[in-house]
Amino acid sequence: MQPIHYTKKGFEELSNLIVSKNYSKLFVLVDSNTIDACLPYFMSNLATTIPFEIVEIEPGEENKNIETCTMLWEVLTELEADRNSVMLLLGGGVLTDLGAFVASTFKRGIDFILIPTTLLAMVDASVGGKTGVDLGVLKNQIGLFAMPEMVLIDSEFLSTLEANQLRAGLAEVIKHGLIADAEYFKKIENLNSLTEENLLELIEKSISIKQDIVSKDPTEKGLRKILNFGHTLGHAIESYCLENENRTTLLHGEAVAIGMYLESHISMQMHFIDKDSFQRIQKTLDHYFPRIAFTKTDIDKTLTYLIHDKKNNNGLVNFSLLNGIGSSLWNKEVTNDLIFSAFDNYLNF
Ligand code: NAD
Ligand code: ZN
Repeated sequence: MQPIHYTKKGFEELSNLIVSKNYSKLFVLVDSNTIDACLPYFMSNLATTIPFEIVEIEPGEENKNIETCTMLWEVLTELEADRNSVMLLLGGGVLTDLGAFVASTFKRGIDFILIPTTLLAMVDASVGGKTGVDLGVLKNQIGLFAMPEMVLIDSEFLSTLEANQLRAGLAEVIKHGLIADAEYFKKIENLNSLTEENLLELIEKSISIKQDIVSKDPTEKGLRKILNFGHTLGHAIESYCLENENRTTLLHGEAVAIGMYLESHISMQMHFIDKDSFQRIQKTLDHYFPRIAFTKTDIDKTLTYLIHDKKNNNGLVNFSLLNGIGSSLWNKEVTNDLIFSAFDNYLNF
């Protein structure tokens, strides 16, 4: 499992790692946001005498593609990166997924280090070794499992993050409580505000939950699928809103929050959770994620996206559902009727 280090000690560990690995050159990958928001703080805390280059890419999911990778492989070649070079990936999940893929394929694989700068990248994208890029509209279609030499977590980076991005990351934090730890969910539902201190606590707990799940099933044969709770419908909603001109695009976490609402309702309808648990989930999600409207046509079209879902086996869509708060099930077939009545509850209650 990848070593994860925090804040000041994390920077010390990073500096030590760079010395002990005797890297020839450091390539710090940033995007046009993190170059201003995160790079100055990062560089001022990194003690190293090894030569480095700053490489910048455009931000956004629309650039998480093979063209950006090709550009980076060419830049690395021009700048004479060798097999003993290391890439330091300073950014959100788009940059860390893409940068990790570029590093692990360049010259059959060079080392990389993750320094996630969004809440989502800290609690989710940086744990578990999934790397990759999109192929057209198909998210994360091309990629491989590869582990970083180290992950450095510092909640200081979050001070410049937009509020909606922070909230989107919180959706995954809520998910971790719901699927694996009832006490943790209780803590989240009783939070009055997000301070830097409780944020770091949430990040550490969420990372340990994800690490625990991933270590038991690294390649997603079974248990790891519980991390997809909220994502079957969440992904369908995210894709539908992205491709439909009449809908405002949703951030991944915003779509997952809706997905978790719907899939919690489905869990209740299938008698895996009781009404009281459902209402607690409903209240917590509503607190952070105001409901949005869907027409009958929106819902019908959203369901057509389920066909692309990776969890769709032999034509049957499998869901990961809750089995009480803090516990979950996977590979559960769900009928369209249950999905429609979950949407009905989301829109009317
Ligand atoms: P993102 O990477 O697009 O970052 C969001 C925006 O915030 C970007 O514009 C970025 O430039 C900017 N930004 C980043 N850090 C900042 C900071 N500290 N201050 C100001 N601006 C900052 O979005 P994300 O939510 O971090 O990541 C989403 C991606 O993560 C998706 O592509 C998804 O597929 C991937 N992901 C991967 C895994 C995995 O297991 N590998 C898990 C979950 C998500
Ligand atoms: Zn997610």
